[in-house]
Amino acid sequence: MNKIKNTSGKILETYKNHLDKGLNIGAEGNISVRVNDEEIYITPSGINISDLDQAQISIIDIDGYVKNKIQPSSEVDLHLSLYKSRKDINSVVHCHSQWASTLSCLRKDIPPFHYMIAEFGGKDVKCAKYATFGTKELAQNVLKVMRDRKGCLLSNHGQICVGNGLEEASHLSLALEKLSKQYFFCLLSKSNVILKDEEINEVIRLFPGYKSKR
Ligand code: 13P
Ligand code: ZN
Repeated sequence: MNKIKNTSGKILETYKNHLDKGLNIGAEGNISVRVNDEEIYITPSGINISDLDQAQISIIDIDGYVKNKIQPSSEVDLHLSLYKSRKDINSVVHCHSQWASTLSCLRKDIPPFHYMIAEFGGKDVKCAKYATFGTKELAQNVLKVMRDRKGCLLSNHGQICVGNGLEEASHLSLALEKLSKQYFFCLLSKSNVILKDEEINEVIRLFPGYKSKR
């Protein structure tokens, strides 16, 4: 019981924190945490974040079977397909943050314009092909650009990040929002400079050791 309270409570706290930070409004976005191979805690569908209570967090299994009668997010297939394809992730955070959504409407991949792009596992953050929200097609499109990445944009929609836990996935969604804003302004300038392959590859090489010291 305590475990249920802790996981649901942490999801709720993060979701409300994202509301306060302006990453979502209303019922936008969704968050999930994989607790073990049998249980995934996920925000419910269509409930205003400010009204949400931790007893309303849905508990499902890896095939989407609902264990506590609470209808999970409409993006349940998106979350489950990421967990099924990636053993290294235990949390998924999707949001409609301002700047990531703006870039997603331009359908722009984010190149290595800033060295912190390496935090997402490679030399860019891609924009997944458009599909209607809540569809298996959207889940497939996201999987294609997330094989070796921890975040991507969703065309004309928003962004999604994953992590080994909720803390990392939430941090990355804020980091992606920050980079999206910076890149949007760089796009307005003709003197925008992208890092060379050898420059960003060196950051990617250094990053695991650098991050573990933090
Ligand atoms: P849910 O309320 O069903 O999670 O939908 C929000 C959303 O962002 C859909 O993409
Ligand atoms: Zn969405």
